[in-house]
Amino acid sequence: MTTPDRAADDVRRRLLALRADDLPTHGGRTLAYVYDSGIAEADALGREALAAYGATNGLDPTAFPSLLAMERDLVTFARPLFHAPAAAVGTVTSGGTESILLAVQTARDAHPDITDPVMVVPTTIHAAFHKASHYFGVERVSVPVDPATFRADPAAIADALDAYAGRVVLVAASAPSYAHGVLDPIPAIGEVAAARGVRFHVDACIGGWVLPWLERDGLVTHPWDFAVEGVTSVSADLHKYAYTPKGVSLLLHRTPQLRRPQFFASADWPGYTMLNATMQSTKSGGPLAAAWAVVSYLGDEGYQTLARRAYDGTRALAAGVGETPHLRVAAVPETTLVAVTTDDACDVFTLSDAMLDRGWFVQPQMAYDELPATLHLTVSAATCDLVPEFLEALRDAVAEAVATGPVVVDPQLRAAAQALDPASLDDDAFDGLLALAGLAGEGGAVAAPTRMAPVNALLDAAPPPLREALLIAFLDRMTR
Ligand SMILES: *Cc1c(COP(=O)(O)O)cnc(C)c1O
Repeated sequence: MTTPDRAADDVRRRLLALRADDLPTHGGRTLAYVYDSGIAEADALGREALAAYGATNGLDPTAFPSLLAMERDLVTFARPLFHAPAAAVGTVTSGGTESILLAVQTARDAHPDITDPVMVVPTTIHAAFHKASHYFGVERVSVPVDPATFRADPAAIADALDAYAGRVVLVAASAPSYAHGVLDPIPAIGEVAAARGVRFHVDACIGGWVLPWLERDGLVTHPWDFAVEGVTSVSADLHKYAYTPKGVSLLLHRTPQLRRPQFFASADWPGYTMLNATMQSTKSGGPLAAAWAVVSYLGDEGYQTLARRAYDGTRALAAGVGETPHLRVAAVPETTLVAVTTDDACDVFTLSDAMLDRGWFVQPQMAYDELPATLHLTVSAATCDLVPEFLEALRDAVAEAVATGPVVVDPQLRAAAQALDPASLDDDAFDGLLALAGLAGEGGAVAAPTRMAPVNALLDAAPPPLREALLIAFLDRMTR
């Protein structure tokens, strides 16, 4: 008999204990951040592959040809799903944000002649594009969406392209948008982009692994991918609806020529010649191997069933929301996302706290421009059977939120928030504001409060630049 390794067992116990306060990743009750197929064997395979390949290095595909082979297999699997031509090429990245960063960087670097590059995007585009703009110095021109449908407006995008003619390197739209779950009119935007010779990226990070199968079932009829002539690149996250462990997304370009500026090489130092297709250099092969394992196991048929389960669950959930007093779906869900709004009797922030008390995580989204505050629900296959339970909890939470009433932000505080210029605030001012917002206690110690509603309502009353500055100050202090 071997003696138990006490130290190792102790570490295992502590690892488990650390997870106690996290949101559950499985079980179908966390309706953002995580995705659960409900298939235990797929999860087990993903974990095994992640562990088996965790120490491999994607830095050099000639040293680890297994990683190149698995990347090729995933791209080959994805190509027909997205109606990509045979010449289309793809790269496995670490996530949706990296896929988007690379799409923007590639579009910028395809035009060394343009010194002040611009990207044109709808206001509903994922914030990863804002990050790309910030990192790569590509000015972002955001075009308002139709406030009735939450969809991008092709005519307004065309106007922006013409207003910035000669400077635009990229147009982007969503299939579907994260915040409201609607498909932008990709064919119309494709036409507008192609007519002007501008690259067009479709962000299918969240929809890319459900839309192909919904399409086959006749549930989605608008073209959204490479079937649209003007689309030059598509991103789709495997760590979302492919139900693989975190750290994997795909970025496909219509041709090798379009992808070319994505690559980076440097021989201008005495070490190995650095040669990268992505932003990371040394990168674990674990997430790629895990994705390969899960996709191989579930396969086309598996995803057909899973996409349909998530979709049916979404429709049932949205129908139930529609029948709940004081609630409304912001838009009829086209895929597996739901955005819920309330009337004046309650607010989404109180509702999200009340749902958490009942064992469900739903994500509050703040008001923006003309668009109302909403609750975001990402519906996984594992949530499908729980919809009646979810709706019961929701009705109960609404009753509580109506009884409490919406959070009232002090009018003076609201006025102050509107008037504050975050650029004029120093560290002490932020300490004071964080305390005022309920994000910091005695002596400046910060912690996420148990009731988020008062904080969220206050942030909701603040203009976006102040929200950003306050949350950055919060993160800064939390991580000191
Ligand atoms: C999730 C998501 C992203 C960003 O992906 P990460 O994997 O979180 O980096 C981008 N766009 C859309 C539409 C998404 O849903």
